[in-house]
Amino acid sequence: MSKTPFLTKEKAKEIIKSYPTPFHIYDEKGIRENAQKLNEAFSWNKGYKEYFAVKATPNPFLINILRDYGCGCDCSSMTELMLSKAIGATGDDIMFSSNDTPPDEFKYCNELGGIINLDDITHIEAVEKACGCLPKKMSCRYNPGGVFQISNSIMDNPGDAKYGMTHEQIFKAFEIMKSKGVEEFGIHSFLCSNTVTNDYYPLLAKMLFKLAVELKNKLKVNIAFINLSGGVGIPYTPDGQPNDIMKIGDGVRRAYEEILTPAGMGDVAIYTEMGRFMMGPYGALVTTAINEKHTHKEYIGVDACAANLMRPAIYGAYHHITVLGKENAACDHTYDITGSLCENCDKFAIDRNLPEIEMGDILYIHDTGAHGHSMGYNYNGKLRSAELLLKEDGSVELIRRAETPKDYFATLDCFDIYNKIISE
Ligand SMILES: *Cc1c(COP(=O)(O)O)cnc(C)c1O
Repeated sequence: MSKTPFLTKEKAKEIIKSYPTPFHIYDEKGIRENAQKLNEAFSWNKGYKEYFAVKATPNPFLINILRDYGCGCDCSSMTELMLSKAIGATGDDIMFSSNDTPPDEFKYCNELGGIINLDDITHIEAVEKACGCLPKKMSCRYNPGGVFQISNSIMDNPGDAKYGMTHEQIFKAFEIMKSKGVEEFGIHSFLCSNTVTNDYYPLLAKMLFKLAVELKNKLKVNIAFINLSGGVGIPYTPDGQPNDIMKIGDGVRRAYEEILTPAGMGDVAIYTEMGRFMMGPYGALVTTAINEKHTHKEYIGVDACAANLMRPAIYGAYHHITVLGKENAACDHTYDITGSLCENCDKFAIDRNLPEIEMGDILYIHDTGAHGHSMGYNYNGKLRSAELLLKEDGSVELIRRAETPKDYFATLDCFDIYNKIISE
């Protein structure tokens, strides 16, 4: 297997004439085809809906593409709620899956008519206080504790995760909520991140479906939806096998027919809140080699840094790199590819075998479409890059300009020093 960029060197050079590197660029065609396929994979479920995890790629132009496929917005903060509202996603198009939530965010979500997904039992009271009463439709986040293992390589530790309620708490929560007038209930759980397997959703679904039957039988509550949340991964390495969303959808269907349908719950809607799977492969960070350094190791310095893409620095995440125009050249050089932050973790790749890199070469860093630009920050006074959209017709549109020093200093604009800095 290999990874193919959605840009050629020629196209990149043409784009760079208008938009200098570094920039993130997104592939409209890929986003659309994937969203279409996701809907097909879950077409067996009448109420199916994907709530795109806004935090992964909070760009209104990209989310608007997903809106064409019926996607709503999964929000986790005030500003994400504001963004959703601005693109017309309100009411049932909002899933508010936050934690450690400030009361004014519950209030705002409720004003927009969004579905509040409670992270904790104590939040029942918080919502009541913030909103006056409980909304008619609500959801609770479940955390089974322990460890969750899918295969030998994929394991996560829900028992150590701050999210969600225990088994006992979710029963108690539903009972209280029912007594306070909630009529429609949802169950949500997120146990494992970036799972590159077709078994994660089906396994999670089984667990949640059983829980739903138990809750319904014991408390006589109306379970309207089950939210499988995010966690469906993408292969970041070139030898990784992509998930097959059709198999995943079918696995969930089988669990549904085995557990929910016989329990008379064949009308429960399935929701998902994917971020990475929806956008990850359809974004790339494009950057230019600007320095080379030969010391104890061979370094190539590029004009992007961890402020543009933080995943390698914070999790040691692998992002594949293609040197544009050298797709077929032998990878007979070994480099650390670095940014300029005063942090040694600011490396996009360590000991990576690549073709010989010359100054001015354009590097294409793959799979930055989710948790890429959005994790950007301003350390070392670095400015966040532009975001571009490669449209289906081959044209390129600016969908977020690059930050300028004025943006960086903007929070000083109520002080005299601001004018001094900006005017110089
Ligand atoms: C981050 C997050 C998601 C999206 O996760 P992916 O791994 O990007 O699919 C979905 N739901 C919640 C509550 C999240 O915090």
